[in-house]
Amino acid sequence: MRKIDISQVAKLPTIYGTFNIQAFKEADKEHLAIYTDNLTDNPIVRVHSECLTGDALGSKKCDCGEQLAYAQKLIAKEGGMIIYHRQEGRNIGLVGKVNAYALQDKGLNTVEANHQLGFKADERTYDIVEYILNHFGLKKIQLLTNNPTKIELLKNIEITKRVPIVMDSNPYNQDYLKVKKEQMGHLL
Ligand SMILES: [Zn+2]
Repeated sequence: MRKIDISQVAKLPTIYGTFNIQAFKEADKEHLAIYTDNLTDNPIVRVHSECLTGDALGSKKCDCGEQLAYAQKLIAKEGGMIIYHRQEGRNIGLVGKVNAYALQDKGLNTVEANHQLGFKADERTYDIVEYILNHFGLKKIQLLTNNPTKIELLKNIEITKRVPIVMDSNPYNQDYLKVKKEQMGHLL
């Protein structure tokens, strides 16, 4: 059994509302659960994969920052939890991701670029997500996602409903969203 360090729970006031925040450390990765006081036994949950360029820098190459803001707004209003899953760049890390962006600048799409670097299109794993849901005693959730593989990957959690999260495209992320839809099965 791996060792997970779990922080205390603290309050996190944000521009969207006030959440509770708790950190989970697994080896060299630290993840977050951000959740409202009124958690039900079947809450809305967003599993948000870390995307430093989208979440913090306002990158237009993807829709991550907008999805995170949408999730925070919705969950502040409806109740629920965001698991901030620190697997940057679909778990290829920042060096891998920036190298993939450099290949995209030369005309490859997001999947082709990952393959050229020796990565799968998606290297993420979801054990820690299940661990965190278990920690909160959550056995069923309404998953806020467009990604049907996320529904399959959460094997031990009942997904009672998929809540869509649909963002507008812009000229920079059109191709990215198209590849997500056509090659990665996203429901956009
Ligand atoms: Zn992103």
